[in-house]
Amino acid sequence: MKINDYNFAGKKAIVRVDFNVPLDENGKITDDTRIRGAMPTLKKILAEGGSLIIMSHMGKPKGKVNPKLSLSQIVDAVSEKLGVKVQFAPDCAKAADQAAALKPGEALLLENLRYYPEEEGKPVGIDKEDPAYADAKKAMKASQKEFAKTLASYADCYVNDAFGTAHRAHASTAVIADYFDADNKMLGLLMEKEVSAVDNVLSNIKRPFVAIMGGSKVSSKIGIIENLLGKVDKLILCGGMTYTFMKAHGGEIGNSIVELDKLDVALGVEELAKKNGVELVLGTDSVIADKFANDANQKICPSNAIPEGWEGLDIGPETRKKFADAIKGAKTILWNGPAGVFEFDNFTAGSRAVGEAVAEATAEGAFSLVGGGDSIACVHKFGLEDKVSYISTGGGALLEAIEGKVLPGVAAVQG
Ligand code: AMP
Repeated sequence: MKINDYNFAGKKAIVRVDFNVPLDENGKITDDTRIRGAMPTLKKILAEGGSLIIMSHMGKPKGKVNPKLSLSQIVDAVSEKLGVKVQFAPDCAKAADQAAALKPGEALLLENLRYYPEEEGKPVGIDKEDPAYADAKKAMKASQKEFAKTLASYADCYVNDAFGTAHRAHASTAVIADYFDADNKMLGLLMEKEVSAVDNVLSNIKRPFVAIMGGSKVSSKIGIIENLLGKVDKLILCGGMTYTFMKAHGGEIGNSIVELDKLDVALGVEELAKKNGVELVLGTDSVIADKFANDANQKICPSNAIPEGWEGLDIGPETRKKFADAIKGAKTILWNGPAGVFEFDNFTAGSRAVGEAVAEATAEGAFSLVGGGDSIACVHKFGLEDKVSYISTGGGALLEAIEGKVLPGVAAVQG
């Protein structure tokens, strides 16, 4: 079912959203992007005369009640954005009466789903190596189904609008869909937008296609890097992973972040790029620092000749120019991961230069997709929100979708 074809009048909708927002030590929301992201779907359902049972996880309570991760802390913020006073169910698995009492136009927020280990469906307190693990896993899968069935029993229809967790087959993101027929389950508006943005990149590639992958490690991104080498015309690699490539060629990298056990992986990436005719673009100079801190002394130096006691924290001016030239003229752009330690204000120039080059190419007609928590933070930090085509809320989900993997949260609804 498509959400725009569904009539919510008089219906109770259980909606999985991603309200996993960052909180400060006083429980105040520091970035409400995710709450705002779900509003179009939630408001549409209420406006059509439906009622809402809203569910989400927050953080990693690992199957236990943890007041610091209680969604009760965000009820007021959700009420304010939604324009109705949202009720709260302090136990997500015992909310049947509150759900049943909801009238059209009313909304109920369930407590953190991950207070129950059934949400993630992983056995707790037992090691994977333990011979009893297989049985524990089977038992947990069975109780996960029961948990999903309980959640499903609150509502007439199910909407999944949580792209950030769409790559997880959890009770609320996938298993629950088994308890609704095809006419009563659907993706939310945010999910539809996310899925079509990825589709736009994958099935409608306008060339040149340039991907920019940054961040700290090559190991965590190797799957997507190898996959992209089968799709892109140019792949720009930056951030901390640069130094694993420099080291693989015998470069001096001082104290820079490096994965010494991944030198062969780096060489393999270079080989695959060559084989596929992809231009691999690596930095040549770095902004180096004498400590990992914003107030460190800094200087510019070749990325493969960093003195002892110094570490590369950003790309240098020559590299910024090289990357900007590589991005110029692109017609499809994917950007994931910062070019340097952009959290330190004195080491943002590289990530800013990448962001601005992406914005310029977008102004000249490229479709640019930016995703992953840190890249989104960069886009906000540099005020480029309106200058890129699409900012994805998904980190892991976005990368898995681009790798071509079927997302369980999407598959469960679409069948
Ligand atoms: P990831 O989680 O792998 O996407 O990496 C994001 C993190 O990489 C950010 O927190 C950056 O501060 C960090 N990062 C980027 N460049 C470097 C660098 N040269 N050295 C250390 N960390 C870096």
